[in-house]
Amino acid sequence: MTNPLSHLCIHTMTTKPWSLAQAIDGYAKAGVEGITVWRQHLAPAGAKAAGAMLRESGLKVVSLCRGGFFPALTRADRRKALDDNRAAIDEAAEIDAPLIVLVCGAVPGLDLAEARKQIVEGIAAVLPHAEEAGVKLSIEPLHPMYADARSAVNTLEEANNMVDSLASPSVGVTVDVYHVWWDPHLEREIHRAGRSILSFHICDWRTPTRDMLNDRVLMGEGCIPIRRIRSWVEQAGFRGFREVEIFSDERWAQDQARFVEDIKRAYVEHS
Ligand code: ZN
Repeated sequence: MTNPLSHLCIHTMTTKPWSLAQAIDGYAKAGVEGITVWRQHLAPAGAKAAGAMLRESGLKVVSLCRGGFFPALTRADRRKALDDNRAAIDEAAEIDAPLIVLVCGAVPGLDLAEARKQIVEGIAAVLPHAEEAGVKLSIEPLHPMYADARSAVNTLEEANNMVDSLASPSVGVTVDVYHVWWDPHLEREIHRAGRSILSFHICDWRTPTRDMLNDRVLMGEGCIPIRRIRSWVEQAGFRGFREVEIFSDERWAQDQARFVEDIKRAYVEHS
């Protein structure tokens, strides 16, 4: 029989109150196979020590979150962003993360078309460093409610266009159901993305949502057709992890080990 928890990955941000060591321990004990590490959880120990801890644990590092935030109002800030992305690439290599998820960035007051141009230029500028390190860069389109300050890439179509223009096997896309479930062209664009789909994030959308950032819910508790979207990414050739990424003030206030058990149940029943 296949393991019902096969391909389950949890983002360290999902269990935000846990340190990296606690998350590694908690996931391993719960039978979770994969971990996506957020840089803020990496920072206290440093990438080198974290890499050793992760290798020891037997967990598979699925990705590092996150790079990006390329657009800026000044040339100096754009250069700073490139340096930070190169540092993230080095960290990913240290912890054996095959890819970095890019939250591409947006700046209030900066025209969206200009922001998108700066994003493509930014990815192109750090791409040689990523290729040399063997780390892929994955463009994650964000829900349009974040177009003001987090990402000017708001549809999978836009992300696919960027992948096409960058034309490198080291650049692909992340499909996060929370950000793209509403898109009438989603099925078409998932098929268009095909093998360039590098990762797949799951959670659910609460109705009504009480907070634009930290009110995500467990799979099955909202209105996203997760299984249908999963069937599309699998038809497109994706065979990787289903990464549970839930930002929730409500859940972060609870016992995290019990939350992981709830995640396992929702993963089996609703993803
Ligand atoms: Zn995501």
